Amino acid sequence: MTELQPKIILVEPSHPGNIGAAARAMKTMSLSQLVLVKPKQFPHPEAVARASRADDILDNAQTVASLATAVEGCHWVVGITARTRKISSQIYTPRELMEKMLDQFAGLQVAWVFGRERSGLSNEELDLCQAICTIPADTEYSSLNLAAAVQIIGYEWFSRIHGMATHRRTGSKGDDSANSMAAAEEVEGFYQHLWDSLVASDFMDPVNPKPLKRKIRRLFDRAGLTRAEVNILRGILKSFNKQ
Ligand code: SAH
Repeated sequence: MTELQPKIILVEPSHPGNIGAAARAMKTMSLSQLVLVKPKQFPHPEAVARASRADDILDNAQTVASLATAVEGCHWVVGITARTRKISSQIYTPRELMEKMLDQFAGLQVAWVFGRERSGLSNEELDLCQAICTIPADTEYSSLNLAAAVQIIGYEWFSRIHGMATHRRTGSKGDDSANSMAAAEEVEGFYQHLWDSLVASDFMDPVNPKPLKRKIRRLFDRAGLTRAEVNILRGILKSFNKQ
């Protein structure tokens, strides 16, 4: 069966060895789309050494300058993080994540975003994610090596795909129809429109807009906006702005 491959995005990895080990983890799980956001050292011999015959994945890896660029065209962006923040997004275990992915996003482009070895993902980067996935681990020591995290998420995907070869939900194909899920940049366009409107109406404090913005993002993340819904919401904003 052909399943659209999730993108594995590594944000600013500092050790080339981890990039190679992540590529190896990916290849064992039949994953091939690697995207690197501002890697510290890449290409690098240490990456090739640790990739151990998964160097085709390194050769085909895309390098980009920002997470926003990396997630362009993606319909569901999932932050893979051990840390949860104050305003909680939907938090999935890897298993729950795959269930949701295959149920609601079959045939659509999904991205999994992994963070830096030292500091993980920033809150601004997590804002670009519509959901969070945390690998259950010891509460006192829950931070896995980057490539180990890729391996575990990849394993759940692989087992799910191969265990559920016929699983499909109809009507969620990645076509251009109004009922398809909105792409990341379409949702961001809507948010920008909303922030501008909320500042113009004095509802949102332009000096400290972040807490409210986050709460609103979480609300729409839970809904999972379709293209048609984004259009309706933008139409509503436009009608208010006319008055
Ligand atoms: N010290 C960092 C940990 C970074 S580990 C921090 O506090 O965030 C590097 C990356 O591996 C993380 O950004 C995340 O993408 C992934 N990772 C490690 N452990 C994880 C876990 N238990 N659950 C989900 N992702 C994890």
